[in-house]
Amino acid sequence: MPNEAFREYNAVLKDFSKIDIAFGLCYPSTYRSGMTGLAIHLFYSALNNRDDTSCERYFRYDTKSPANSVESGRPLRDNHIVGFSLTYEENIIELVQMLEKGGIPVGQSERTDDDPIVLVGGPVVSANPEPYVDFIDAFVIGEGDIVIHKIVDVVGNAESRRDAIESLAEIEGVYVPSIPQNKIVRLIMKDFDSLFHPTAQVVADVEEGSKLESVFGQSLLVEVSRGCGHSCKFCLVGHICRPRRTRSISKLKAIIEKGVQETPVKKVSLIASSLGDLDNLEELASWVIDQDLQLSTPSVRADRVTPNLLKIMKKAGQRTLTIAPETGSSRLRKEMGKGLDDEGIFSAVRYAHEADIGSLKTYFIIGLPGETEEDVLAIGKMVKKLALETGMRITVNVNPFIPKAHTRWEREAQPTLEVLRSKIKIIQQSLHNVPRVRIETLDPRNARVQAALSVGDRSIGRVIRVAASYGGLSGWRRAERETGVRFFEIANDSSRKSEPLPWKSIE
Ligand code: SF4
Repeated sequence: MPNEAFREYNAVLKDFSKIDIAFGLCYPSTYRSGMTGLAIHLFYSALNNRDDTSCERYFRYDTKSPANSVESGRPLRDNHIVGFSLTYEENIIELVQMLEKGGIPVGQSERTDDDPIVLVGGPVVSANPEPYVDFIDAFVIGEGDIVIHKIVDVVGNAESRRDAIESLAEIEGVYVPSIPQNKIVRLIMKDFDSLFHPTAQVVADVEEGSKLESVFGQSLLVEVSRGCGHSCKFCLVGHICRPRRTRSISKLKAIIEKGVQETPVKKVSLIASSLGDLDNLEELASWVIDQDLQLSTPSVRADRVTPNLLKIMKKAGQRTLTIAPETGSSRLRKEMGKGLDDEGIFSAVRYAHEADIGSLKTYFIIGLPGETEEDVLAIGKMVKKLALETGMRITVNVNPFIPKAHTRWEREAQPTLEVLRSKIKIIQQSLHNVPRVRIETLDPRNARVQAALSVGDRSIGRVIRVAASYGGLSGWRRAERETGVRFFEIANDSSRKSEPLPWKSIE
């Protein structure tokens, strides 16, 4: 066992001689971040529920080797399909490294009949797969749980690897770069209630606070809804996961009841992009407490926070309210389509304070199109007012604007590193002496890499390949120098306003 360092509940180990398809489910980052998201749990359960398939997991970091599965040590290249979930653009580096370490040719055109089929899905590639086409045999565009069984059937019935890849190109929502295809239609499940939800979820048997524990602690992940009814101009989820779909309250209760029987946890983590929009959130939260369970919720739209909801959340063990004002300026908030006024934000935080919730987490974006210095100063003013009025501990997350494909700001440029750094400095200075306020920022250099990857075209595949051989931020700089491709300029390129978009084949 490669993984003798820790035990897991609900891990599945099948007799290899009794299955037809071996699926390597890969997460190109840490064990912790992979097991915090729902995607790994969902595909792991769905695939292992099939008698003909064995699904084992691989992570880039924290397990004994990225080239061997957690469950049995099965070598990555011994799988028929190797499927990655790509949540963040920059993890393409780790994806390429995992292929390399696993002995799978990195270039899709270099693979032979003996190699697995490399598949990737997730929001990043569903918006713009083009920068990654050199490495991937097939992309799932949209909600992969709709087609995953069809994909396994096609590969299982194929006469050869080439035959499998050609057949994959015929499945709606699957993009195969090596085969000419018409427009790719993004997959969206309309009847959300009938969609499979995992209830026997894998949990690591580790001490509280261990780096292997999920970000939410030992808990059952419950997907309440997908998509969002709003469409803020910068937001990927608000554009590519539309329309918003919500599970019925009876279905959610059934998932939780079964889930806590099959998974040894005492806490439920609700997953949703815009949780506050769930009509029955208070009813669901109260019911969770009545089951003697704790509750963890993601960011809630500030204007949907009520005193009663916060009282319930506090009773359920929640100690932090998370909100995303995005900007301190109500003018800019309106311009971006957030539809949230200052009063909604201040009321939510006051309610949290009154409910004895001691800490507040806030998310802001800098470098938004049309942002003025006054707008940036407004972030500091807002946080200062909240801190002084309530005395709460406040974490201020400041992230640079990253243009995303398919959003209404897809053609906008990210400001230069110097401009982003000066905006961060303005916020740091304005909150310098304010007690109990902590500022966390995404390094503008990382944001620039993310922006270039999210709106780039297939020419940057060369840069990715070289950068993966070095790793880290300096790897990107060396890759730019060695390939001669002006990678970093893509992020700040305002000429994209009129050029054709690389992702035009995705509908
Ligand atoms: S930022 Fe939030 S409210 Fe706006 S579209 Fe995205 S998920 Fe919805």
